[in-house]
Amino acid sequence: MRIDKLLANMGYGTRKEVKNLLKTGAVKVNETPVKSPKVHVDPEADQVTVQGEAVEYREFIYLMMNKPDGLISATEDVSETTVVDILEPEDIIFNPFPVGRLDKDTEGLLLLTNDGKLAHQLTSPKKDVGKLYYATIDGEVTEDDIKAFSEGVVLDDGYHTKPGRLTILSSGAESEIELTITEGKFHQVKRMFEAVGKHVTYLKRLKMGTLELDETLEPGEYRELTDEEITYLK
Ligand code: URA
Repeated sequence: MRIDKLLANMGYGTRKEVKNLLKTGAVKVNETPVKSPKVHVDPEADQVTVQGEAVEYREFIYLMMNKPDGLISATEDVSETTVVDILEPEDIIFNPFPVGRLDKDTEGLLLLTNDGKLAHQLTSPKKDVGKLYYATIDGEVTEDDIKAFSEGVVLDDGYHTKPGRLTILSSGAESEIELTITEGKFHQVKRMFEAVGKHVTYLKRLKMGTLELDETLEPGEYRELTDEEITYLK
């Protein structure tokens, strides 16, 4: 990889800014000053420093966010604040994007990464990755709903969903449930409940595949995945 690309990827500025930085002699590869932007380096093997500080190169970033209510799951938007807007600049330089969408008013587990292969694995309908949601429902959720969900329900557009595993945590005028589904159709959980005549009043994602929301994260906070979490997820 060219040294100017590596440094630009790591947030040392645009290619032009990096070129100027190189000219100053601040960049060394294996202790030798490098002034040409065209020099090739091996990010794994070569030791690159800028003003004496080691540049830790890495290609991918994996972030777990506890998405708050009010943000949209996109990288950019003309009028709304997105989940990427609230990331720190040192994370934004990796160009992370949200894996799958949560509605603006849905909270909870959102993975942001620039690893397209992993994102595909987690969202492809063929892979059947389970997503666990917690929800509060206006009205009484019943055994009939558990049965209906286990067979799949018909949404407003005629689509017959795959089976969902519904667990009732409490049932009454307002019920609390957990639901695992393996698909990610638009507003799927809300529409599955509408299909049985009920309304979701609060929705939070708790789990995606093997990845569980770190409950110590307040809404709007995020952290990098641990090596273990990344390994299990792949
Ligand atoms: N289902 C929904 O209805 N909304 C979400 O944000 C996620 C799943």
